[in-house]
Amino acid sequence: MTTSTHSTNKTITHILGYPRVGDKRELKFAQEQYWKGQINQAQLKQVGSDLRQRHWNDQSTSGLSYVAAGDFAWYDHVLSTSLLLGHVPARHSNGGFPDLDTLFKVARGQSASEGDSCGCGSVHGSDHAGDNNGAAAGDMTKWFNTNYHYIVPEFSQEDSFQVSWPQLFEEVNQAIQAGHKVKPVLLGPLSYLYLGKEINAEEVDNGFDRLSLLPRLLSAYQAILSKLKSLGVEWVQIDEPILSLELEDKWSNAFKLAYQILQSDVKILLTTYFDSVEDNLAKIVELNVDGLHIDLSASPQQLEAVNAAIPQDWVLSVGVINGRNVWRADLQTWLEKLQPVKAQRGDKLWVASSCSLLHSPIDLELETDLSEEVKSWFAFAKQKLNEVSLLGAALDGNGHAIEACATYSQPIKDRLTATHVNKPQVQQRLKGLTKALTQRSASYPERAQHQAQVLGLPLLPTTTIGSFPQTADIRQQRSAFRRGQLNADDYQQALKGHIQDAVKRQEALDLDVLVHGEAERNDMVEYFAENLAGFQVTQFGWVQSYGSRCVKPAIVVADIEREKSITVDWSVYAQSLTSKQMKGMLTGPVTILCWTFPREDITRKQIADQLAFALRDEVEDLQRAGINIIQIDEPAIREGLPLKKRDHKAYLDWAVDAFKISASSAKPETQIHTHMCYSEFNEIIDSVAALDADVITIETSRSNMALLKAFEEFNYPNEIGPGVYDIHSPNIPSQQWIVSLLKTAATKIPIERLWVNPDCGLKTRNWTETEASLKNMVAAAKTLRQLYQVTDTVKAEELETELS
Ligand code: GLN
Ligand code: ZN
Repeated sequence: MTTSTHSTNKTITHILGYPRVGDKRELKFAQEQYWKGQINQAQLKQVGSDLRQRHWNDQSTSGLSYVAAGDFAWYDHVLSTSLLLGHVPARHSNGGFPDLDTLFKVARGQSASEGDSCGCGSVHGSDHAGDNNGAAAGDMTKWFNTNYHYIVPEFSQEDSFQVSWPQLFEEVNQAIQAGHKVKPVLLGPLSYLYLGKEINAEEVDNGFDRLSLLPRLLSAYQAILSKLKSLGVEWVQIDEPILSLELEDKWSNAFKLAYQILQSDVKILLTTYFDSVEDNLAKIVELNVDGLHIDLSASPQQLEAVNAAIPQDWVLSVGVINGRNVWRADLQTWLEKLQPVKAQRGDKLWVASSCSLLHSPIDLELETDLSEEVKSWFAFAKQKLNEVSLLGAALDGNGHAIEACATYSQPIKDRLTATHVNKPQVQQRLKGLTKALTQRSASYPERAQHQAQVLGLPLLPTTTIGSFPQTADIRQQRSAFRRGQLNADDYQQALKGHIQDAVKRQEALDLDVLVHGEAERNDMVEYFAENLAGFQVTQFGWVQSYGSRCVKPAIVVADIEREKSITVDWSVYAQSLTSKQMKGMLTGPVTILCWTFPREDITRKQIADQLAFALRDEVEDLQRAGINIIQIDEPAIREGLPLKKRDHKAYLDWAVDAFKISASSAKPETQIHTHMCYSEFNEIIDSVAALDADVITIETSRSNMALLKAFEEFNYPNEIGPGVYDIHSPNIPSQQWIVSLLKTAATKIPIERLWVNPDCGLKTRNWTETEASLKNMVAAAKTLRQLYQVTDTVKAEELETELS
């Protein structure tokens, strides 16, 4: 007799996925060795297998009900899905079944060389792109609003899908063999289609839509589910994260049929994350699935509506442990919130991480430099396993667990009122924030006049975006300094040497506005995080960005304050070496926010405002120290956009304000630049204009066409520097090419408002390439100056012919 339902069964606990790279980034190093031919495929596979075993053991020993399998990926899980489905671009396929080398070909291009990342956070596709003769890598783009990048599936009309790659089944088997209870993870068919793109323009013109491939795709998914069933699997997690978007009807309507067809003997947990699913809830409840997972960390308010709407016999998996941040969960508060749901749903309530833990660093225990207090605020992936498990036990009424939840949550609660976290002086300043603080003291036309007088720049002024080659010397010195092998004075001296060198070279090139070169910065965000109070950096807090690339974002732990100037000494030193204008170089508040782990106890806007004030003081100090041009980089402003369009405006409003607070301590004669690593401004164009920077430099150099297009869409009211060459490529742009690009630009932007510059910082290039390219760039600007300043039409015509 089984009449009592709720108390007998343990609450099911699970995670949506685990980081793959290994706590010491073992996978990264093995991949890179394999690509260089230093280890063979068997050795690489062994590394992967060991990692998976470890990850499953960690999940099991923490007491989770299931371990996740199929979450491991050799490069990216969307790409794994493509291989599983036998859906490999023709240019990478050898006709037979795909294998690991096929996967790397799609990821990295046919004859991939390991490129460098330019520090843009956004990935430019060249790092993993093959050469022009080989088969280019698949495109890469951001995974929703995270800093993870996936390989974009390519669809065309004749595509077929057929289970082709056994990795998933092998891994599920491995986990079962190892004695774990396994819940495989699959990217759902609709999200898979949605995240891809049609590649053939002609087909699209003829009405082809990738959604039409759904029936074919579903047969393959059915085969996958049957196979999983035959392995003894009970539950499959099918990720459909697009359900948290504002979907067009044709997409949301497609779900019903899809999940009807997918009906199989395995139970399906439909997983959503990163935002609320309320928009699609009415359609979700009609689906033929056995449970729904929602992200309560991103959207706690959806709990009630979802719980009320979904059928009683469905599992409701609540994602409460944030997979995207480093903070310890307030388990006690969650416990209280979930107890009524538990009482109502019984063992149909599951407890989980909000999303895959892929986006969180791996093991807090490795951190030896954090204070006990700071450590007591954090939980990385491994610690999050325990959180999920503990919360599950507490919901089951386990007295120890309930008590443990309370003790565990105490540090997070104490933090809320700690004055070294919530600093009265910072809060005071934030309270005094008025609209006036966001306004420059004069309008752009007026400022431009002042600046013309003070700066004395020629028509088409030339400049660069900030960083110069991070040479082996620079990197060695930095790491020697960090290891304590080089003392602070010697390190300073070395950096000054690099600045001198950069200034000398820029003078020789005859650039108009110089930069100091950023030799002192390892990374444009980390540098500011290290020099502002309120941040914590970690030793091993790596998170996968794409493929073997990982980033180690700093963490905002307290109210942010600038205790001393950060860049002023470097800029002043650089300025002392030249009579040309030296451009100060700052990273903007929104970019610092987007590329670090934010606090969860205050809003993103509040963090951005705190950063803005700190940077505002830096702008003021730079200006007072005689720096007349200051660039505030904001490459991340676009990627900070929320997932739902209706939330965009609110974000853009505060993001723009934060930038303006930083910039508007500048006097009219101080010229503010900003830089963004792209040129598609479509939906943010008004906001970019609203930044009211005197000069914006952007990326437009990929092709002539791109440049034209950028200016059809982007009508920047102030001055603009369209990047005239691609710094992501080692190719040297010819003078003629640059001239032609600039002439194109000049048809769209009045020449008096046009600047000449590369499309991003030069840190990943070497000096030989850099000097050769800049030489042509400066020559191009000079030629055009002549052309445009010649009033005599005959002479102008002569020049024209000479140039063409
Ligand atoms: N000033 C930075 C640099 O030149 C800008 C880089 C960026 O926007 N990603 O490296
Ligand atoms: Zn850039």
